[in-house]
Amino acid sequence: MSFVSEFNKLPAAALAKKSADTGTAAVRETLAKSALTLDDFVRLISPAAGEFLEHMGRRSHALTQQRFGKVVRLFAPLYLSNECINNCKYCGFSRDNAILRVTLSVDEVRREAAALRDQGFRNILLVAGEHPKFVSNNYLRDCIAALHQEWPSVSLEVGPMETEDYRPLVQAGSDGLVVYQETYDRKVYADLHTAGPKRNFDWRLETPERAYAAGFRRLGISPLYGLADWRFEALSAAAHADYLLRNCWKAALTISTVRIRPCAGEFQPLTQITDRELAQLICALRILFPDVGIVLSTRESAKLRNGLIPLGVTMMSAGSHTEPGGYTGAGREKLHQTVRGRVVELTSGSSEWAPEPNRATNATGQFNIADERSPREVADQLRKLGYEPVWKDWDAALTA
Ligand code: SF4
Repeated sequence: MSFVSEFNKLPAAALAKKSADTGTAAVRETLAKSALTLDDFVRLISPAAGEFLEHMGRRSHALTQQRFGKVVRLFAPLYLSNECINNCKYCGFSRDNAILRVTLSVDEVRREAAALRDQGFRNILLVAGEHPKFVSNNYLRDCIAALHQEWPSVSLEVGPMETEDYRPLVQAGSDGLVVYQETYDRKVYADLHTAGPKRNFDWRLETPERAYAAGFRRLGISPLYGLADWRFEALSAAAHADYLLRNCWKAALTISTVRIRPCAGEFQPLTQITDRELAQLICALRILFPDVGIVLSTRESAKLRNGLIPLGVTMMSAGSHTEPGGYTGAGREKLHQTVRGRVVELTSGSSEWAPEPNRATNATGQFNIADERSPREVADQLRKLGYEPVWKDWDAALTA
């Protein structure tokens, strides 16, 4: 039994319609309750609940303070490689995009990580496209092992694996795994994933459970908002989170709230979620799940992030680069294109992604970030808002 069987029984489309049809009386009734169900969540993300945003914001803020205190955990993504065998229409790293690619050596990963440590970070998220030739399991294990001693928390966002393949990564020192389902709409998923192993929807959906079985103690999930109706995605993700809380209860769960950003390939969002609806979603998630971490990335602007923090956000990235080598320029001399798994040397004018002299590296990023503040500026802003930025909240020495 996995979440796939529960998900197959979830009347998600009917619930999304129910949300659209919710009236203000039903929202009031839900807001009067102390413990909420998925049906209540459906009401809280309804258009009618938009009128109660202030009320929801106050409740969400109070719950977050009660459960987490006035702290926000900061982390940084470190991109290891932008090689990928999948075609995901919304992603700059898609196999068929003629981008500039590179996979960092373990030493280069160390250098990138050292630059992030110098900025204050102690939580790191290692990100890579899915390409067994360039991003092998052994390579990932070596990267983790190289960082483990100096980094209290090393999480991964890489191609899904079997439980047995995850175990050596946990043993090497990784404690967290993030996997976005991208969209919970099977039809949209099939349309957007045109090549590669990622086409297998169920395999991806079961990934957090395999990761948990292998020993990961932090799990992160999310849809990518902008692919299917946001209310459908949100209630599906809420059902997923609910399942994980019941079945993977030793793990700390986070839910992200990521929206599509411009990237190579120039994919345009298929659906919209407004800033106000994003705020409503964060409040609804917090009210349904008082103890779940809510992640807000640099995909959102500085102004919007400042406004969303008090609503229930517990974790933020800052100063992010989405290209391998983005923090130090590492790997610049190895840039190439990849055609059918083969490395193709760059020749003059071979790519529209021409080198940019003012960037630390010329590898192509996964997407453009919106909040370009430095980690220090984000930390200062958090303090101004009355929050303590937390760079480290766990140490492996605490593991029994
Ligand atoms: S979303 Fe992930 S799997 Fe898809 S192309 Fe991008 S890096 Fe590859």
